[in-house]
Parts: sequence; C-alpha cells; structure tokens
Amino acid sequence: MKSLILLTIMVLLSMSYTEARTFRVITRTESHRAHEEEVELENLISDTSFDGKYFKIVKGKSSEAIAFDAPKDLTFRAATTYFHLTKARNYFINHVKSSFVSQSEKITVRIEHTNQFSELGHFAHDNLDPQFNNALTIPAGTGLSSRGIQPWGTEIWFRPQKKVHISDLNVNNLQSQEFKVLMRGFRNQIHMQSLQRFLASSISILIAGGTPHPFSPDNFMRTAGSSVIMEFGYQFYDPIAKATSRKWYWLDTALVPEIIYHEYSHAALSDKLELSHSTAIIEGMADFFAGQISGSPKLAKHIKKYNTFNGKNAKRKQDYMIQFEMGDYANTDFVFGLLWEVKNILGQEQGEAFMYELRNTITTNSTIRGELVEGLIKTCEKVCKDPFNDKIIILKALNSRGI
Ligand SMILES: [Zn+2]
Repeated sequence: MKSLILLTIMVLLSMSYTEARTFRVITRTESHRAHEEEVELENLISDTSFDGKYFKIVKGKSSEAIAFDAPKDLTFRAATTYFHLTKARNYFINHVKSSFVSQSEKITVRIEHTNQFSELGHFAHDNLDPQFNNALTIPAGTGLSSRGIQPWGTEIWFRPQKKVHISDLNVNNLQSQEFKVLMRGFRNQIHMQSLQRFLASSISILIAGGTPHPFSPDNFMRTAGSSVIMEFGYQFYDPIAKATSRKWYWLDTALVPEIIYHEYSHAALSDKLELSHSTAIIEGMADFFAGQISGSPKLAKHIKKYNTFNGKNAKRKQDYMIQFEMGDYANTDFVFGLLWEVKNILGQEQGEAFMYELRNTITTNSTIRGELVEGLIKTCEKVCKDPFNDKIIILKALNSRGI
C-alpha cells in the first residue's frame, strides 16, 4: 500500500514536469465578446514554432514558421489563427465528414502579409498596392521555375490592420456617430458591399492619395464575406478598445474568429468551388459555414434580424436585384441569408449536410436566380427527408423574395 502511494506521488510529480505548452488567443465568451484565453494547440510538430501537422503559420513572405519566442503581437496572432483554423478543420471532418479536408495537404498561413496575390508569381511586387484590413484564400499555383518561383499549395493570408479615420470613410457626415449609425449609412449607401472590402478599399485609396470611393479598385479578390457576418465579427472583436463610439476603424483579421472560419471554409469547399475570383456564391457559402463553425446563438439571432433575405431589419432594396447578378459582391448578403433560411427550413442537422452537398451542384460562377435555385432543388431531391414537400417549401420561400 505504502509503495502504491509512493508510486502515485512519483507519477504525479513526473506529470507536473511535462506541463503542456499553452498560448494566449482570442476566443468568444458566451455572450460573444472577444476575450483572451490560455489554450493548448493541437497537432504542433515543432517545439519551438507554429509549425503543425495541418497548418504552418509564417510572417509575410517567409517560409519559416513563426517562433514561439517572436514578439508577442506576432505570436498572439499566430496562436489565434492556428487555434481557430484547427477548430474549423475539425468541424469539416467531424460534422460534414469531408474526405477532401481530411486528405488535404498542410496549409501555409501568412499573417501580417501585405503583398497582393499574383497567379503567376505567387506574390505581387512589394510596392504594388499593399493590402491592409482584409484576408483572403489563394488557390495553389504551379510556380515559374524560370524565375525561381516554387509551386505553392492553397494558402490563407491575413493582412495587418491599418486605422482609417471615420471622416475618410465615404459615408455622409458621420463623424460623431456611433458604429450602428455608421453601419446603417454604409448599408444604405453601398448596397451590401462587404464591410471588410469597404474598409480595405478606403485605406488603399488613402495610401494612393485620392478620395476614398467605396466602389474602387478591382484588385480585391476573394477578400470579402457578406456584410452581415463581418459586421457582427467587427462589433465583437476588439477586447481592448470598444468598437462603438470611436472615430478610427480597422479590421485585424487574424484576431477575428468568424473571418478565420470564413477563410478556412473557402479552402475546405475548394474541391468544388474554385477559388478563381470572388462571387456572391462562394462568399455566401463560406459565410454559411463560418456561421455554422462559430455555432453562436447570438450570431444566429443577428443573422435572423439583419439578413437581407429574410431579416426583420433588412430593407426592401436589399432584396435580390437582377442587375447585380454577376457583380462581384453585390448579392453576397442575399445568398448568405437565403442559404441560412433554407437551413432553418430543413433543421440544423439536415440543413448542414444539405449545404455541404450543395457545392456539388453549383459552381463559383453560378447565377443566383438560375443555377443556385436549380442546385437547391437538385440537392433536395438527393438529401431531403421528404423531397416532394421540402422542395415546395423551399420554392415558396424563394418566391416570396422575388426569385
Ligand atoms: Zn471570402
């Protein structure tokens, strides 16, 4: 008996020496506020840097993983992205049983990365319109051996934050207004353009020395989700300064869980939804899964209230508009709201499986009124429990929104 106690003490002592490494990351409280928490990171393969089995977090153009002893602002962002990317990956493997994700190659994740994406060169020149306040997922490339450019796999890029003064955001005289009012102005003025893209385009114009204009540069590929989810992430992402009542706006995308989920969803869906450019379809699908991964009842409520497909606070003019059918982002919020609503009709579990299956019947370039609707119906025939009645209910919901 004595020796058993001794043994137990020895085992306990030895355990305390192999203490797990923990990292500070941003997570959500139950009321969805951002806060800092100590967590353990799964599947790291290095003892000294953010190099894991499925993700390697690097800074800018580097190919070396960020060291654990790098400056804190860097390790904080590296740990936060690693933590939430792992959560998103686990979601796709455990919830929707994605064999594509479980077989996918390790993803390189770049933080504090300002270069634009070049399909041939991987990174555009450093001086070419550096990027801030956004994030994007890039497709794999073959490289260019004659120029010494190595092939690369799918990557996720997070830009550094850069503050934009409210007077530079092209929203009429809102200088002393609060965030909610700013959002209303923003929504009214620019018809569902993403908040993220909006902030990014403002800063880009400021750097170029011009007057900000929300419909500016064409070079924002795959940088946005719908405004409803970005807006929500934005309101709840800053643990230090309050997001409301301030005059400076920025998006520190590597610290916003919903943006991290959104970007990972692009990668996870890319077996069918090609990452060639941003469309309402792929942004809406990535937002849908970001919402699912987040699993926040508060986010669900927010979507219900503000989604432009069926929300209480959605304005009539934010309904589907045919003239925006092929516009980059114009109907993103609408598509997201539509998918969310169809999920609610089918119920959480069936709805989730349905949306994952949906990617087989649509493409990045699908039209909303034609191919997306057709895809929904085809998918229902395949996976709905009661296809005949469920199809009628879905079509009814679409009809009521002018589709
Ligand atoms: Zn996106």
